[in-house]
Amino acid sequence: MKYDQARWQREDEDLYEPLLSEKDGETVDVDESPLPDDLTRDSLELPDLSEPELARHYTRLSQMNYGVDSGPYPLGSCTMKYNPKFTEDVAALPGAAVHPDRSEASVQGTLELLYGLQDYLARIGGMDAVSLQPPAGAAGEFTGILVAQAYHEANGEGHRDEILVPDSAHGTNFASAAMGGYDVVELPSGDDGRVDLDALEAAASEDTALFMLTNPNTLGLFERDIEEIAAIVHDAGGLLYYDGANLNALLGRARPGDMGFDIMHYNVHKTFATPHGGGGPGAGPVGVTDELAAFLPAPRVRETDESAEGTYERFDPEETIGKVHGFAGNWLVLVKAYAYIARLGDEGLADASAKAVLNANYLAEQISYEVPHGPFHHEFVASAGDQDAADVAKRMLDYGVHPPTTKWPEIVPEALMTEPTEVENRETLDQLAEAFDAVASEDESALAAAPERTTAKRIDQASAARNLRLSWHALDDE
Ligand SMILES: *Cc1c(COP(=O)(O)O)cnc(C)c1O
Repeated sequence: MKYDQARWQREDEDLYEPLLSEKDGETVDVDESPLPDDLTRDSLELPDLSEPELARHYTRLSQMNYGVDSGPYPLGSCTMKYNPKFTEDVAALPGAAVHPDRSEASVQGTLELLYGLQDYLARIGGMDAVSLQPPAGAAGEFTGILVAQAYHEANGEGHRDEILVPDSAHGTNFASAAMGGYDVVELPSGDDGRVDLDALEAAASEDTALFMLTNPNTLGLFERDIEEIAAIVHDAGGLLYYDGANLNALLGRARPGDMGFDIMHYNVHKTFATPHGGGGPGAGPVGVTDELAAFLPAPRVRETDESAEGTYERFDPEETIGKVHGFAGNWLVLVKAYAYIARLGDEGLADASAKAVLNANYLAEQISYEVPHGPFHHEFVASAGDQDAADVAKRMLDYGVHPPTTKWPEIVPEALMTEPTEVENRETLDQLAEAFDAVASEDESALAAAPERTTAKRIDQASAARNLRLSWHALDDE
């Protein structure tokens, strides 16, 4: 793809004009003041490096890291699948670089894409309306909770102050519910790893605002009683929230909206192969049924009615909860999600979920660790038994693969929560199984010493995450 700057500028010159001319002749109404001495400097000490030194430095750093471009990454629940590079090309097109304050007339292509993505996601989830604004799955949860709150309040049901969450749920569900100001009621799972209907019936009441659930659940098991679950929650006057982290098990085959869910978020980095945020830009769009659409964050995008077919505008839903992020959300991430869905189409999406499910079941069959429950959807939870699951994970690094998620969900002791994703082929799944089995046969001392073959050995994970040192100067301190 070639970036033709001259062409781009010529085409858009007139679109920029109104913005620029408004500034013409304007005088600044604040006095100029000199910069404070302590904020200015005469010289800057920069490392004096040649291009080869710099190239080698960054290449070496990249090789010290493990990512989805290095090998399999079966981190259960997180869905760390390979992100096809064409979506990066699309997001890098010059037309994608738009200032969010530009006039609607000058960004019709941008609005059309946002509208198209709202529509794709609504159809995939069986929802009626979608907001693209939240910047992550967890932010989508919080947004969904605020929407539910606004809905209950508008119906004179503002007294509902409880959110029900199964004990297998992701930590963000509990956190989002608490951040929304709710009392969090944890529901124990049944012996089969699914929602216990009796426990749900006992917990659901006139205080219930929401029941948050993911389906298939975090054990990779489909909640077969989902229609009954929806009926219990709705009969109590509550709403049903779908945590979309596991949507890639259903993609193109079943829809949360058809199961009775009222609100959901989409983790586009799990289901639609956009990069995981890692603290950076992500997206967690929220979908709702018609009854809740008026409360979604602003702005959304719609077709301009009347004669102007094929033109788009932003609008604020009537009873919007406001904004949860700047502008339309993380636009370039949304471009990638759109590109991925558009390229795969209905058949491609259904094929992705089929392979995700097949791969999880194949791998679960191959490994020697005990795997309770099953058959599974897109992930399974094995038990490390007498071994410490965290040690198992460290040792797997020595076999050149990324380990699964460990110690969660807690209903399986020493859990190894494994999600191979649809992108891995049989050879890679066998390589993963070999790594599992090699570690399973090792003794405690080998596990305690791991990892031995990685650039960094056992690290203090909390400090590594909280006190990042990314600059060249950091090396000076040592
Ligand atoms: C990943 C995940 C979330 C949170 O999503 P983020 O996009 O990481 O904020 C919520 N629930 C489940 C089950 C998840 O796996």
